[in-house]
Amino acid sequence: MDKKELKQLKKLLEIEKKKLTKDLSSFAEKDPKRKWNWLTNLPFLGEDHSSVDENAERIEAYETLLPIEHTLEIRLKKIEEALIKMNNGKYGICEACSLEIEPKRLEVVPEAKRCIKCKEKNV
Ligand SMILES: [Zn+2]
Repeated sequence: MDKKELKQLKKLLEIEKKKLTKDLSSFAEKDPKRKWNWLTNLPFLGEDHSSVDENAERIEAYETLLPIEHTLEIRLKKIEEALIKMNNGKYGICEACSLEIEPKRLEVVPEAKRCIKCKEKNV
């Protein structure tokens, strides 16, 4: 992979990182204790002015957000790891077989950790 391609992919990763961080920040906060972990904001449950129904709705919304938060958090982790690898010059190397990951694959999934063959074999 040449430098130009690498630069292009880095740009893609950084855009995605920004987007994911923004999405996550809209309903969650970074866990100060565990790296890569985010915590969905707890629902605000009003005491006096909220009806039971309103509170139930807020809890329901919270429960809907939990799996979304988890998915975004995992994706953000992969992207940040890919960016770290770029800085270390280890980007684009398959973690399973140590060969170069196909540039075409990286264009589609810039945070990929394994080449197509290893992914298909699921090693
Ligand atoms: Zn491989």
